[in-house]
Amino acid sequence: MRKKLIINNAFLVFFSLLLLFFASLIAIVAINNNNSKTEVQGYLHIACEVFDGDNATQTATTISKANSDIRITIIDLLGNVIIDTSDVEEFESHLDRPEIQNLGEAFMRYSKTLEIQMLYVAQLDDGYFVRVAIPLHSINTIVNWYSLIGLLSLAVILGLSILLSTSLSKRTLAPINQVIGQLGSIVNTKNYYGIDSVETLIEEINSIKAEINTKMMAIKQEKDKLDYIINDMKQGLIVISEERNMILINAYIANILNFKQEDVVNKNYLYLIRNQEIQAAIEAAFANQKVKAVDLALHGRIYLLSFNLIENSWLGRGVVVGVLDVTEQRNVEKIKREFFANASHELKSPLTSILGYQQMILEGIIDDEQAVKEATAKTIKEASRMNQIIIEMLELSKLESGIQFVDEDVFLTGIVKETIEQYQQELTKKQITVHLDLAQVTKRINHTLAVELIRNLIDNAMKYNKTKGLITITLDTKKLVIHDTGVGIPEADLSRVFERFYRVDKAKSKEQGGTGLGLAIVKHICNLYGYQINLQSVVDQQTTITIHF
Ligand code: ADP
Repeated sequence: MRKKLIINNAFLVFFSLLLLFFASLIAIVAINNNNSKTEVQGYLHIACEVFDGDNATQTATTISKANSDIRITIIDLLGNVIIDTSDVEEFESHLDRPEIQNLGEAFMRYSKTLEIQMLYVAQLDDGYFVRVAIPLHSINTIVNWYSLIGLLSLAVILGLSILLSTSLSKRTLAPINQVIGQLGSIVNTKNYYGIDSVETLIEEINSIKAEINTKMMAIKQEKDKLDYIINDMKQGLIVISEERNMILINAYIANILNFKQEDVVNKNYLYLIRNQEIQAAIEAAFANQKVKAVDLALHGRIYLLSFNLIENSWLGRGVVVGVLDVTEQRNVEKIKREFFANASHELKSPLTSILGYQQMILEGIIDDEQAVKEATAKTIKEASRMNQIIIEMLELSKLESGIQFVDEDVFLTGIVKETIEQYQQELTKKQITVHLDLAQVTKRINHTLAVELIRNLIDNAMKYNKTKGLITITLDTKKLVIHDTGVGIPEADLSRVFERFYRVDKAKSKEQGGTGLGLAIVKHICNLYGYQINLQSVVDQQTTITIHF
């Protein structure tokens, strides 16, 4: 590239000087010609002044005296030369000469007689053509000298310009080479050998441009990927800088707090976080203290906020606030807590009763044989209630454990009939009529769970029925409907009877040997198989429970 620059520069200087040289040469020649023309015209005028028609020789002598270079020719109207100071004898007619043809106009011509370039001009005066000519050898001398000096100067200037452009290009290209080299080393691994032509420079810039584009694309893709992950995750993320500005806030947080990300990003966190407990936690995290996660109730959901101090080169010190929706988790925990409290309570009362009876027998407070028998019977009843509670609790925990139950084709019609037979004694005792409308239905279900489901529903229909009541059971491939004409369930309790240990009338349920877990088990089984439960009831009249398969 340097060589090319120098050559280009040298050519430019050379042609400029050449142009200048020729232009000034043409101008010098033109000025000189002009001056010569004026000079020759002046001599012609003097000659005409001196010439009176008879003094040709005298005129020629007078003018020649003034300037020996001047050639005077007097020609008669026939073109014959009367006198010519050039001493050359000319016999042919001069009438065809351009200066004679165009009087008063100067003509330049090579004189064969004198063998030099001459400038001619003629005028008709006193019946003769007076012609004056001056040699133009002076212009040639000027041109020769000018050409010599011009060419010498041209060579010197050219040399100097080459020297100058060499050092200039060196200095100009050095930083470009350096920059290109550095750029090249930033974006690619290939070695850079320097620019030696414009093409190389363009090639180098293009390849760097391509490299930069590729790298930019890769960076953009990485950023898009990260943005997608950060904004698509089902967890909230806020990154707070040491200046307490929220430099990153993801879409999840924006959605739950209902604002636009761009409206809060880079703003102080106090703009968004007003809760003092959370503010204190953030500041504690900045102080590198151990910070406990905080539960935040918002729009009916519970969010767990964690705070972590991070330190890195681009952020310095910052705090990352993680936000996780723990509503379901908290609800499960609450249910579990309540379940344990209820279960302990449910088990505690029969146990207290058992202990009380046994204590009284032991201490002889109950010593009558009949009374001991009654106390023992009550103890057994309470113990079997405890047993029933424990069985049903185990049942529930099995259902909740997520274990895979083995399903088979179960003939539901048969199970309904068998269950009714098992309850026959109690049904007769309560004088309850059972009406069956059963299609032949087989379902893919776990056998034990199918028995459990049907047994619990029939058990309730019988337990909460009135004496001389009616139970109607309808079964087809789409549904199982169990209808009873019993005490019914108040509307306010309809949604709650499926909760564990929930009973509308605790005393009545207890008296009937209920545990409050039956419908919770039914609901679990239905959930497991995707069955829908529908409960309708009118207090003191009837209850209908429908299982849609
Ligand atoms: P329990 O062991 O007490 O019967 P369940 O979970 O089976 O427990 O039922 C919960 C409560 O729902 C019962 O205590 C009772 O108050 C009410 N219940 C259930 N089935 C019926 C029904 N067929 N008629 C009236 N009340 C019912």
